[in-house]
Amino acid sequence: MTDARQGTTLEQSFEYRIKRQRRKTIALHVLADGTVEVRTPNWVPKYELVDFVERRSEWVIQRRREVLRDLANQPTFCDGQYHRFLGAMFPLRLSTARRGHVDFRDSVFLVTVRDKDDPVQVSKVMERWYREKAIELYEERMFACFEQFPDWFQDKYVIPEITVRKMRRRWGSCSRAGEVTLNLALIKMPIRCLDYVIVHELCHLEAFHHGKAFYRLLALVMPSWKEHENLIEQLS
Ligand SMILES: [Zn+2]
Repeated sequence: MTDARQGTTLEQSFEYRIKRQRRKTIALHVLADGTVEVRTPNWVPKYELVDFVERRSEWVIQRRREVLRDLANQPTFCDGQYHRFLGAMFPLRLSTARRGHVDFRDSVFLVTVRDKDDPVQVSKVMERWYREKAIELYEERMFACFEQFPDWFQDKYVIPEITVRKMRRRWGSCSRAGEVTLNLALIKMPIRCLDYVIVHELCHLEAFHHGKAFYRLLALVMPSWKEHENLIEQLS
């Protein structure tokens, strides 16, 4: 059962819907489209839910602000819209099919989804495709970049495992254990930006902090690293 309620504070208001489910606790969710949902056990009376939401309204407003800002920054997913891949822009061509699928062919994203007027479906298959490409390409570039390092480095370290993740503030990171995490969004950047981030993280195997030893190795392997770093700044 679902019904809509209104939550208000002095400055902001938001609507929320109540979803009664077989569950034990009340939970408050701000969904990716900004909808606020209260999931509750069947037996909780309405006034208690209103109180529950009101006591958390500041959190909801803050969370919604973040979600809506992300939404505004996101590209749209209509037919003909351009999307980034490896530093260039290519158009979407949407068509309908039972299964969601992306085929990148002749500089066009051929996308099939069940309902091509549903941007959420399109964005989901696009993201899945980006992720697949990222896993493939990052691994390939990791090998190529590792080979650029001097022999002593290649003897001392093994090629790190890569995790691909969406990250808000960083392009990559390297753990003390030598695992490298790379931002999914790098798949939209020119390859030289991706290479720079990989080389940067590989340098952290030898020098964990950004000290002299770190920059000495970075400059040795990639003398033009600063240019690439500037390019990333520009594009992001
Ligand atoms: Zn670093």
